[in-house]
Amino acid sequence: EVRVRFAPSPTGNLHVGGARTALFNYLFARSKGGRFILRIEDTDLERSTKKSEEAMLNDLSWLGLDWDEGPGVGGDYGPYRQSERNSLYKQYAAKLLDSGAVYRCFCSNEELEQMKETAKRLQLPPVYTGKWATASEKETEEELVKGTPYTYRFRVPKEGTLKISDLIRGEVSWSLDTLGDFVIMRSNGQPVYNFCVTVDDATMRISHVIRAEEHLPNTLRQALIYNALGFPMPSFAHVSLILAPDRSKLSKRHGATSVGQFREMGYLPQAMVNYLALLGWGDGTENEFFTIDQLVEKFSIERVNKSGAIFDSTKLRWMNGQHLRSLALDELIKIFGDQWKRTGILLEAEGSFVKDATELLKDGIDLITDADTALSNLLSYPVLSTLSSEEGKPIVQDKLSEVAASLISAYDSGELREALEEGHVGWKKWVKSFGKLLNRKGKSLFMPLRVLLTGKLHGPDIGGSIVLIYKAGLCGAVNPQSG
Ligand code: GLU
Repeated sequence: EVRVRFAPSPTGNLHVGGARTALFNYLFARSKGGRFILRIEDTDLERSTKKSEEAMLNDLSWLGLDWDEGPGVGGDYGPYRQSERNSLYKQYAAKLLDSGAVYRCFCSNEELEQMKETAKRLQLPPVYTGKWATASEKETEEELVKGTPYTYRFRVPKEGTLKISDLIRGEVSWSLDTLGDFVIMRSNGQPVYNFCVTVDDATMRISHVIRAEEHLPNTLRQALIYNALGFPMPSFAHVSLILAPDRSKLSKRHGATSVGQFREMGYLPQAMVNYLALLGWGDGTENEFFTIDQLVEKFSIERVNKSGAIFDSTKLRWMNGQHLRSLALDELIKIFGDQWKRTGILLEAEGSFVKDATELLKDGIDLITDADTALSNLLSYPVLSTLSSEEGKPIVQDKLSEVAASLISAYDSGELREALEEGHVGWKKWVKSFGKLLNRKGKSLFMPLRVLLTGKLHGPDIGGSIVLIYKAGLCGAVNPQSG
């Protein structure tokens, strides 16, 4: 049975790197009919917070990466927080002590410091060279009686190599002679990170460990612990780093990096998921647009690239536009309406005004937040209320003057207003006869009209715009405070 896990440390926000690791695990599980497990790695009690845990769960849910076992949903292999699994770690540490795979080390910090310095001076690897690896039972007994604090130290073979076959990187091997015996339990009884992860992955029956490349050095230690505990080794897949366009490690100084920031900026979860999947993976064709269901269908871990993937925020933005425009009109109306209501441009999130505005503006929009700019731009030009012979003058330039003069008189006579009352149909009729009157059509008619009516050279369909602007003045949907 395929069982994979995402194991975040709740010490901050969910970043794009973590989100991609979660996504690859999710896609792997779903594509294999396996289970996706969420485990909270909160062994670092000082840096872990409940708030961060909640935010991460929320971000994962927002992305649609629902987990089959873990916080909130339970499961047969819980608890799913490391802080609640201490008795288990103790039990397995005792087992390793019994079998001789670990030993008690009574070295003081000073002794350990000295060992390090000596190694440095002799240019040797900083491995443990203390006496406790080979101490007699009697020596150990004496320290225990004295109450000397001790750690549990893992006995690492002094030579040889350890190999794993990584699903992304192929064979990875380490020579053991420079590793040295490492601590798995501190003198205060706190189990060490690598030990916890191994016990957890083994007892949660994790079949595939898919995680970031930076965990490779941990894999070596964890593999040794697996062997010592007699657990079958899972398969490993180490995913490469996400890089900034300058190929340095992606970080805050490159802009938004956390999932929450992108949500605030107006990104859709389905666009985030699609883009994250492309960071190191592709289906082998030119196609880049995938829904999450299509990703589940196409995903294979073997196709994940082992070189670093570049995070391109321009492309992510573009992709968001693709996903926005692929939504059904009803969904889009709901998203834009909620957005306009939330930011206070509109007083209501529903109704025919929202529908008309969505239809008119949707094509130029990449981010949900762009919809704010688009609508307020359109509404901010005080056209019908101020367009009169007096106030119309400042915007009348030579080229526009002929059209402006006629437009002003159409406005003053009430003819334009009457036409607009009939919405689009009325506008069409009016603009046709208006063009005839001036002997203008196409660009030479619509360009001056656009400038006069909206104050801009470019924008959405002019008829749609003017009908919407007129409607805004009548329907009471627009927040008068927002202009
Ligand atoms: N808790 C680790 C992290 O946040 C993940 C460890 C793992 O996947 O093995 O990076």
